[in-house]
Amino acid sequence: MAIIIDGKRMADGLLDRVAADIALRDARGLSQPALAVILIGGDAASQIYVGRKLRACARVGIVSREFRFDESVSEAEMLALIDRLNADAQVHGILVQLPLPAHIDANAILDRIVPAKDVDGFHPVNVGRLSTGNGNGNGLVPCTPLGCMMLLDSVVPEFRGLHSVVIGKSNIVGKPVALMLLERECTVTVTHIATQGLPEIVRKADIVVVAAGHPGLVRGDWVKPGAVVIDVGINRIALADGSTRIVGDVCAAELDHAGALTPVPGGVGPMTVACLMANTLTAAQELAPMAEPVAA
Ligand code: NAD
Repeated sequence: MAIIIDGKRMADGLLDRVAADIALRDARGLSQPALAVILIGGDAASQIYVGRKLRACARVGIVSREFRFDESVSEAEMLALIDRLNADAQVHGILVQLPLPAHIDANAILDRIVPAKDVDGFHPVNVGRLSTGNGNGNGLVPCTPLGCMMLLDSVVPEFRGLHSVVIGKSNIVGKPVALMLLERECTVTVTHIATQGLPEIVRKADIVVVAAGHPGLVRGDWVKPGAVVIDVGINRIALADGSTRIVGDVCAAELDHAGALTPVPGGVGPMTVACLMANTLTAAQELAPMAEPVAA
């Protein structure tokens, strides 16, 4: 029977640790970390994700500043806002909820955020730090991959020499998680939509991280006994009775023989939000002492 890795419980623990550190900062006379959250348009999923992030801020003691815009906002207005937030010493983290409307160049927006406030870890400087091996220390690394690694850490005692297969090569999940696994000296195979013979490749894996956005892609007979499977996928599927349900990229019911598995929901999702809080605290700790010396 596969261990079900309880991401909700792990995320609660991380949020508690972040809250305790923020209380400690407070006791030392440092201001609360502050996160600017920018949301453009009315995408339903984005609204839900932003709502979760704001609730997590309130829970741990991070000040959240919301900037909501209509779909019609221009790229120039967004860049000007980011310039203001970059220069604002009272803001430690800047998050732009993706996806952005088609008329806004997401890379131009993300590249404008100063790397020190890039709590999503998407700026080329932070991506570069991750790829040169500095990202697993104090660097700001993308939240979902960071959460995947913490979930893996809870069940994998030693990564060195294990074979990891990552399904999906997005900048948000697939590529950064592959770099993190490589840093732990796994042998990493990155696969994607054009990969030939995916089931055979996955069958060789000790660790499978799947972030494809394809419900039920990974079948039971793709996974070798004892392998650890991290299911990043979040897919809303329609049921026969007209209702909908959230499922992952793995056929969880076929994975009794796996060593461990993250559930959907309740696996990677809560860890992503908790890691955003941890990154915001990290950013504040790097930035705040410069602007606000610790009180005597
Ligand atoms: P994306 O669309 O940017 O990338 C998907 C990747 O999967 C691509 O590289 C594509 O080549 C690959 N892929 C798609 N179908 C495939 C197939 N049939 N076989 C092999 N590879 C395939 O998506 P993303 O942003 O990386 O997100 C992936 C999934 O993870 C989505 O379901 C998304 O909702 C979810 N997600 C969850 C969290 C979380 O916090 N749990 C965070 C980010 C993304």
